[in-house]
Amino acid sequence: MSGYHVDALLHVANLDLRGRGIWRVFSEAYATGRISITRPAEILLNANTVTVLVGFPIPPSGIGETDGPLGALCLAIALESLGKYVRIIADKSVLKALREVWENTFSLSNVSVSEKDVIVAIEVPGRSKDGRYYSMRGALISPDPLDDIILKHVGSGRTVCIGDGGNEAGMGSLRDLIVKHVPLGDKIASSVPADHVITGGTSNWAAYALVGALSTLTSRNLLKEFNEQYYLRIMYDSGLIDGVLGRKSLSVDGIHKGTLQ
Ligand code: MG
Ligand code: MG
Repeated sequence: MSGYHVDALLHVANLDLRGRGIWRVFSEAYATGRISITRPAEILLNANTVTVLVGFPIPPSGIGETDGPLGALCLAIALESLGKYVRIIADKSVLKALREVWENTFSLSNVSVSEKDVIVAIEVPGRSKDGRYYSMRGALISPDPLDDIILKHVGSGRTVCIGDGGNEAGMGSLRDLIVKHVPLGDKIASSVPADHVITGGTSNWAAYALVGALSTLTSRNLLKEFNEQYYLRIMYDSGLIDGVLGRKSLSVDGIHKGTLQ
């Protein structure tokens, strides 16, 4: 299967239902060869240990959102079935919820990342050019600085970052396009780059596309063990909220089973 066919997954994952501008960011980045899903998938297939970073606290409550954790779980389940050791390092806002499902979930203060780990950040706040962290609406947030891990390891070829708005770790690699296409882009855009970046209409979708790429490259259906509604219910029951709606809802970024809320 050629990279071209696998990359088709990215086009589906970047449907921009909320009109945030991420489709424009994606299409311009893709056209100029700045986004690929094949290379990150190949890097993951060669890894022994994968560290997944996840968790975005939503202002003003600081409660964690449903975008990110589901993608992290989908990827973790797929990679474990491929024989990889997968651990999750979670922001405090999603730590308890993820521990309900994934035993190897740790807080930033309780774990160190090895030089050999492949690191995947999914919907992790990335500091802006002024060193602070912002929501898509420009509100200040106070996440655990998981993006420190990306900053420490970028350049190694082992950092993969997923985002859907431009304020996430890794999106610094597309900062010029985020400033150009995303509302409040200059203020909220992350300045944290990554070796490989993947965008999506939601970050969960981009993570699912990455698992789709892994499936294609291994000729195995690695998505079949992941039931999104089942895990969404667990995240909901653990207190996570929809980040766009700002309240508890069985949805992700205001999208419920494919329809806008
Ligand atoms: Mg986001
Ligand atoms: Mg999102």
